[in-house]
Amino acid sequence: MSRGNRDQEQAGGRRRRGRPTGGGQLRRTVDSYGDQSVRVIYVAGEGARTEPEYFRLINKTFGDRPGREKFHLKVCEPSNPNGLRPEAVVDLVLSEAEKKGDQDCEKWAFFDRDAEDNRDTEIPRAMRKASENGVHVALSHPSFEIWLLLHFRPFTSQENGRDAEVIKQLRNHPKADGFKEYDKASGDRGKGLGGGRGEALMREARGREQAPIRNAVRNARKLVTSCPHGDCSPKRADDLLAASKAARADAGSSGETAPESYETWRTRTGHAADCDPLKRDPSSDVWRFLADLEIATEDSY
Ligand SMILES: [Zn+2]
Repeated sequence: MSRGNRDQEQAGGRRRRGRPTGGGQLRRTVDSYGDQSVRVIYVAGEGARTEPEYFRLINKTFGDRPGREKFHLKVCEPSNPNGLRPEAVVDLVLSEAEKKGDQDCEKWAFFDRDAEDNRDTEIPRAMRKASENGVHVALSHPSFEIWLLLHFRPFTSQENGRDAEVIKQLRNHPKADGFKEYDKASGDRGKGLGGGRGEALMREARGREQAPIRNAVRNARKLVTSCPHGDCSPKRADDLLAASKAARADAGSSGETAPESYETWRTRTGHAADCDPLKRDPSSDVWRFLADLEIATEDSY
């Protein structure tokens, strides 16, 4: 079996620390992993500041909830301060997991469909590579910042890959504390989620007001429903996620699950198999990453 096929076969599976799936070889001893009940997920994004900081917020806020499966996102840091191209994001998450002997862990790549040149060939190539190597993809259109904005308000305007309007709305939203200077200033006041921004994104529900992260999930799901393709629905993503969780439960400790076609892998976003990812303007798949982690399903969040 080729490496690609073997990895794809394991794509739907998950590995807990210290418990290899399939033929995966552990390079570290089980003891070196500490708590074996933690679900470990490697994550990499295009941006050097904002995405890693968002993942760390998710770890801190949701990684260790009472009565819930614990998880830890292993945040892969791009070496280039200007960020990465889509295919490089896939390469980064694969190489970091491999380096640590965690190639059987779940892996997610987050990248954008923006107006830069060559994206029309780069994104399909990056997606194909991700699928063949068992990496999930969360695509945002036009940029990751639309996902941040959806925490505070819906956004349905097609911007043809430019995120100036998204960022303007984010800076000006009254509940987006700390975002006034977002991407304007250099250093900490520019990109990144310090200075109250993280708190604004992660705060719990207040009275009748929903938690921002629940707004983000709801708003992003609505964008799947209103996708110009016309046959896209977040329910499809829910059903596929439920089916893969059931398959993993059936597989038990072996972790072996059936291989997945590229079409199924693609429809995990809720979009139809023939919905062009480059034309989902605007959209963000980050919600389904949270759904997989069972985040924002409780009343308080
Ligand atoms: Zn669609």
